[in-house]
Amino acid sequence: MSAKTVLITGSTSGIGLAIAREFAKTGYSIAFHGLEKEGPEIAASVGKEFNVLTFYSSANLLNPSEIVTLFKESRFKLGNIDILVNNAGIQYVSAIDEFPLEKWNMLIGLNLTAAFCTTKEVWPDMKRKNWGRIINISSAHGLVASEFKSAYVASKHGLIGLTKVLALEGASYGITANALCPGYVKTPLVEKQITEQAKAHAISEETVVQKVMLEKQAIKEFVSGDSIGALAVFLASDQASMITGTAIPIDGGWVAQ
Ligand code: NAD
Repeated sequence: MSAKTVLITGSTSGIGLAIAREFAKTGYSIAFHGLEKEGPEIAASVGKEFNVLTFYSSANLLNPSEIVTLFKESRFKLGNIDILVNNAGIQYVSAIDEFPLEKWNMLIGLNLTAAFCTTKEVWPDMKRKNWGRIINISSAHGLVASEFKSAYVASKHGLIGLTKVLALEGASYGITANALCPGYVKTPLVEKQITEQAKAHAISEETVVQKVMLEKQAIKEFVSGDSIGALAVFLASDQASMITGTAIPIDGGWVAQ
């Protein structure tokens, strides 16, 4: 098996799927993962479109034993993982005094702890091969805060902290670790927020997009998933071997302010 293998969590939807397509275009074997019921069809159709090997798993990343199985099955089908993209994530919006502990635990569990567990799965093989790439999908909210997003902002800041530690521990083994920090990307996760916020504030969805979301970005447009995928593909390349421990905004100038 000559092609490198990339495993992208949450890749049967939104940003993860866009990242998977960019890697597939470049000839990587893709381990798809996500809870969407059409996951098997998505993996098969991307595999067919770009003539690459694929695997699919619907492991719940909140369950550590399912994470172990995900990597075991993926290794069996596609061999060792060369590039791990920790992308699966969720959002919950509430004032701190009403924020349910159960939701806090769920967001920290998926957005942060799962990335710790998946990294532990790939790390020994990467060390042995003296080559590896960890790409963590954080957020502009990994660098700056917004109100009512306590668990999300904490988890995304935490993910950047984890990325920096991995960069240091991986340095002598040819493993790089970087975080990408997107602004708003129009995916199911954001579409849900648009609907909820329009309802909560009794304003139109267009007003939510322009006045609440894109207000923070200097460029008043959604970020495209493809651009995040292309950046991930570059970080996986040998030309990017000296880029490590970074948190790269791809946010239309949001955190520049
Ligand atoms: P999405 O809702 O389209 O996709 C999320 C993926 O995570 C799905 O495949 C889903 O099945 C998977 N997932 C959810 N819960 C899971 C669980 N318990 N176990 C396993 N998988 C689970 O979301 P998206 O907008 O594409 O977001 C992807 C990542 O990008 C997230 O980490 C998100 O925080 C981050 N991000 C998104 C935006 C944005 O504007 N959309 C901006 C910055 C960062």
